[in-house]
Amino acid sequence: MSDKLPDFIDPLLFAERRTVLSGALEIAALERLSDLVLVKDGDVEIEAQFGKEGKRAVISGTIKATLELACQSCLQALSWPIDLKFKLGVVSSLQEAEQLEIDCEPLLFDGEKVSLNALIEDEILLALPDYPRHEYDCILQRSSKDADFDDESQTKTHNPFSVLAKLKKTGE
Ligand SMILES: [Zn+2]
Repeated sequence: MSDKLPDFIDPLLFAERRTVLSGALEIAALERLSDLVLVKDGDVEIEAQFGKEGKRAVISGTIKATLELACQSCLQALSWPIDLKFKLGVVSSLQEAEQLEIDCEPLLFDGEKVSLNALIEDEILLALPDYPRHEYDCILQRSSKDADFDDESQTKTHNPFSVLAKLKKTGE
């Protein structure tokens, strides 16, 4: 079930109504995030549950996406899966924010409606690394791509031997 997500939310009203939002946001609609990704097609899947803990309005939810970031070593595409949970406590002042539980981030709410896009985008940006990089030594691999192919075919031809070796061992 995914309905069209609202552009703006009233967190206090939604909390009273125990609203659940579920759906997809286009990456292209998230401006700051768009600047960071190589591929702007695609969606961010979100789910957000509004409710109350005591008197406090809280929003908890999940964000899922696969972003194509630019590797900061080789500048090539780097697939970066996002699968994060967030929990926000709606507060009206910094003093109030300090009273929040440790697992709860403050959402400062001054009565103006909150942009859902901006809220989700903030959470994603917080979760992204400052310097995303390939896990392997990508610069080295790029300069020796041909060598990689040789390595691969070698591994393949080695496989039957390792199977034989295994059989021999169990036969003993
Ligand atoms: Zn790289």
